[in-house]
Amino acid sequence: MLKNNEIDEILITEGEIREKVIELGGKITRDYQGKDLVFIGVLRILKDLDETIVGKDVLVVEDIVDTGLTLDYLLRILKSRKPSSLKVCTFLNKSARRKVKIKVDYLGFDIPDKFVVGYGLDYAGKFRNVPFVFTLNPEIYKGELK
Ligand code: 5GP
Repeated sequence: MLKNNEIDEILITEGEIREKVIELGGKITRDYQGKDLVFIGVLRILKDLDETIVGKDVLVVEDIVDTGLTLDYLLRILKSRKPSSLKVCTFLNKSARRKVKIKVDYLGFDIPDKFVVGYGLDYAGKFRNVPFVFTLNPEIYKGELK
C-alpha cells in the first residue's frame, strides 16, 4: 500500500494515463492496419527474441527514455536483423538528459528531469503497481521514511 507521505508530487494522473493509452493505441492500430506488427517490450537485456524479425514491422515499447543509451544499443541490434520497419513507442520521455539522438515515434508524456515511479516504474522494487506517475518524498532516498 502506498502511504500519503511517500508522494512528493503527482506528475501524471491515472485518468491522464488512461486517455493517452486509448489515444496511442488508436494511432498505432490505424498506422499499422493490415500489417503484421511485432511489439518488443524491454524489461532487461538478458533474453533474446523468440522469433525472427527479418522483414517484419517492429515497434519497440519502452517505459522511459532518459539518456537514450539503453534504447540506442537495442535499436542497433534490432536494425542489424533487417526488419521492414523499426519504430519506438515510449510511455515517458526525459529529453533533458539525452546523450544520444533517439527518434520517438509514439510518445506518452514528456517529463522534467526528475526520478519518477509508478505505472510500472519502480524504486528499489517498490511503487511499480501504483496507477499514476509521481516523484518520491526525498526522505525515502535517505532511508528516513519508514
Ligand atoms: P537510459 O538508457 O535511457 O538512460 O535509461 C533508461 C532506463 O533507465 C529506463 O528503462 C528505466 O529502467 C531507467 N530510468 C530512467 N529514468 C528513470 C526514472 O525516472 N524512474 C525510474 N524508475 N527508472 C528510470
